[in-house]
Amino acid sequence: QQSAISNQQSAISNQQSATRQQPATRNQQPTTNNQQPTTQMLTINGAAGEGGGQILRTALSLSVLQRRPIRIENIRAGRPKPGLMRQHLTCVKAAAQISAADVRGDVLGSTTLEFHPRALAPGHHHFAIGTAGSAMLVLQTVLPPLLRADAPSRITIEGGTHNPLAPSATFFEHAFLPRLREMGARVVFDCERVGLFPAGGGRVVMTVEPGELTPLSLLARGERIGIRAHALVAGVPEHVALRELTHVADRFRLRREHLQHTDLGNRTGPGNVLSVIAQYRNVSEIATAFGQRGVPAEAVAERACDEIKAYVDGTAPVGEHLSDQLLLPMWLAGGGEFLTAAISGHLQTNADLINRFDGPRVEIHPDSTGHRVSVRASPG
Ligand code: ATP
Repeated sequence: QQSAISNQQSAISNQQSATRQQPATRNQQPTTNNQQPTTQMLTINGAAGEGGGQILRTALSLSVLQRRPIRIENIRAGRPKPGLMRQHLTCVKAAAQISAADVRGDVLGSTTLEFHPRALAPGHHHFAIGTAGSAMLVLQTVLPPLLRADAPSRITIEGGTHNPLAPSATFFEHAFLPRLREMGARVVFDCERVGLFPAGGGRVVMTVEPGELTPLSLLARGERIGIRAHALVAGVPEHVALRELTHVADRFRLRREHLQHTDLGNRTGPGNVLSVIAQYRNVSEIATAFGQRGVPAEAVAERACDEIKAYVDGTAPVGEHLSDQLLLPMWLAGGGEFLTAAISGHLQTNADLINRFDGPRVEIHPDSTGHRVSVRASPG
């Protein structure tokens, strides 16, 4: 059943790519492979802005891309339990492994890290988080550098594939990856085993063919293709998924063919996740809601419905979560632009951090539909 979903969705992704907008600008790509490494250490304050794990991940990706040593202080100071948790530590180890880095401070709970990347090491890599920490966030850390390596890679990551407060594998595959492919990335993604929070136990595999990316301009959603929903249950009665889907169907007047459910049985879990997907010609937005003990399935579905309704009622193409995740690919492409309704803490924090490195700069300006985010080659 899952592969039927994937086939249907990749057909839609292809359709979207075929009609994608041409980039307004084509800037020079930041040099990575052939440039002289910048040896000057960049010190980063992990307490800035959002003060979460994203600062660490973006800094690691850019450090590896530019072979620039970094020191991060006050890691995740904005979170109740600061310092490196398992997921973050796996990001550090993964970034170190693909860049033969010398690292200091790579232990659980550490609030300071020194990271000296030496040379990109594409190839086969396997990373296990060891908890239900998000495998997708580890993947997003190593993906940008591997796109600019001089040989292909195959990355396997074990951990959670559907976690709250992180992109789910569904979001990654159907909201993020189609945009990355439109920029020219040649990547194949497979969620081999679903790992639902809090149990984890998932496995994702990605193959990456390196190559240049081209700027993407995402200024309009294009024609609406439709709304659909997918409910996953593991070790939770099937009727939970069916009630969620019925609720979404009633709210948006969906037909049966727009609804899918997967019952993973007792192999993993217990867990339940609902993804509601709004598809447009140029972009897809995905709202994710997690089942909780004591919360009726209809209430879980209502959360996802409210989130997707807010998006559908607006006009800006790029939603809150995609907005911060598009910055690094656009930086890699040497340019790009999009419209988004609001500036999230993650978007602003990521933009500020990227602008501390050499290379293209992120600018955010108010626009009639919200905000225009542009990534452009830095002058000089
Ligand atoms: P912590 O907040 O504990 O440091 P973290 O390492 O997960 O945890 P954050 O800095 O909060 O780090 O970054 C979370 C990332 O997950 C951001 O890129 C954000 O856009 C993304 N994200 C959060 N929720 C969703 C969601 N529902 N769908 C897609 N992406 C999401």
